[in-house]
Amino acid sequence: MLGLIQDRPLLISSLIEYSGLNHGDVEIVSRTVEGPIHRTNYRNINLRAKKLAQALTKLGAKLGDRIGTVAWNGYRHMEIYFGVSGMGAVCHTINPRLFPEQIAYIVNHAEDKYLFVDLTFVPLLEALQEQFEKVEGIVIMTDEAHMPETTLKNVICYETLVEAEEGDYDWPQFDEMTASSLCYTSGTTGNPKGVLYANRSTVLHSFCVCANDGLGVSSGDSILAVVPMFHANAWGLPYAAAMSGAKMVLPGAAMDGASLYELMEAEKVTLSAGVPTIWMMLLGYVKENKLKFSTMDRTVIGGSAAPRSMIETFINDYGVNVIHAWGMTETSPIGTTGNLLKKHADLPEDEKIDIRIKQGRLVYGVELKITGDNGEELPRDGVAFGDIKVRGPWITKGYFKGEGGEVLDDDGWFTTGDVGTIDPDGYMQITDRSKDVIKSGGEWISSIDVENEALGCPGIVEAAVIAVPHPKWDERPLVIAVKEKGHPVSRDDVIKHLENSLAKWQLPDDVVFVDELPHTATGKLLKTKLRDEFKDYKLPTT
Ligand code: AMP
Repeated sequence: MLGLIQDRPLLISSLIEYSGLNHGDVEIVSRTVEGPIHRTNYRNINLRAKKLAQALTKLGAKLGDRIGTVAWNGYRHMEIYFGVSGMGAVCHTINPRLFPEQIAYIVNHAEDKYLFVDLTFVPLLEALQEQFEKVEGIVIMTDEAHMPETTLKNVICYETLVEAEEGDYDWPQFDEMTASSLCYTSGTTGNPKGVLYANRSTVLHSFCVCANDGLGVSSGDSILAVVPMFHANAWGLPYAAAMSGAKMVLPGAAMDGASLYELMEAEKVTLSAGVPTIWMMLLGYVKENKLKFSTMDRTVIGGSAAPRSMIETFINDYGVNVIHAWGMTETSPIGTTGNLLKKHADLPEDEKIDIRIKQGRLVYGVELKITGDNGEELPRDGVAFGDIKVRGPWITKGYFKGEGGEVLDDDGWFTTGDVGTIDPDGYMQITDRSKDVIKSGGEWISSIDVENEALGCPGIVEAAVIAVPHPKWDERPLVIAVKEKGHPVSRDDVIKHLENSLAKWQLPDDVVFVDELPHTATGKLLKTKLRDEFKDYKLPTT
């Protein structure tokens, strides 16, 4: 027997329609590429998203067509998020930091019909346009006054396109499983693969982001989304903000400490989200200028492991709570979030940090397990570690156009490529990416553990740990680190510091200093490049 409850589809358009009607005057504040701060609100975003849907329909875009964006976080990007998905087309966010040939590849693979581009990236598309196979036109996200001289063909001005419509439009109703957005993972090998989200998965994921034990997004928040809208839908924040009527603050191209801090203070930001590299810059700026955060309540750190020292600084020096979250493009992306439990309230601060450096707890909607070499499930004791597998209504079941083949096992689990532990309270801790683990004499050394500890050494700003071949032990760890400017920290200082927390066999065999470390297009350490650069490195122990 089926229940007698209305079967309304979970559509992305319902999010913006809700906030347009019920939080109409809540602001969306953007630092624009053209320069000034721009202010709009949910009523206008909903109206202009509808106008955009009308305009795209006139341009021939239909249900399921892919519409690409190459853009920073800004209000027009938000209008495209809702306008494109709302009309039943697919918003394909493109990471402009990818290699140009990868961008051409994914535009063609996605068969993007139109591309929306910020002024910054017009030259990038000019250089690539001859390679585009299906693109019918390029919309430059500005007004007539700022339209650039360009060699791009079939160019349209965003403001002219949108403002030609009157916005009298009812969001169409369709199957909630209809594809809504597409995001390619920037794998370190092979071609990027597309994760295709659905309206339903996006709405369910938004409930999780808004839940108290998720990221707790509510109408009381002012959210600074530093995580780019081209990286796993800015961790779902634009949708969750619309679901709750939270104020959104979008930083555009200015990611430096001074610009972010200025926005945080001016817009009374309560919640921010980004990768550790961004927070490192921000904290550096705040410390150097002896500043404080006056409204920031919590910050979400994810994408890479949040170092212990960073969590301590936010909490102890600035009174900002840290939510350490883990996820992947393939998981929409929230998989686990790092909230403490009631029973942790009276723990000594140090032990609370021990919990916070884990990648967070399971939230309802995501199932997680760890398996050993033969696929057997390992105990949830916080000690046994194995391959992390995940399952749930916002987890991918296959890449766009079947790239990469079958990705689920017979029971529907997706293998994440991460290795870690789960404890009895459901806290997951990543010990490594499976390909980054250092296998030394039959034991595994977690490169993330060593990196975290190295970052706690005075004078070290960033550190990567990789495996270097060793004749006796197979592999041994090498630390490659960046020093604080002018700091005298030496190889021996780092090793001495690590002796405090690591077992002897886990200590790196050497420490090398470099001016900077390579990163992927989403800000993660690019260890494949380091492994390649240091493959012939002679450790002093060989
Ligand atoms: P992406 O799809 O680009 O977001 O990358 C996902 C990968 O980033 C995961 O599989 C992890 O390896 C890594 N990652 C994400 N969040 C964390 C975290 N909090 N700690 C450690 N690694 C993380």
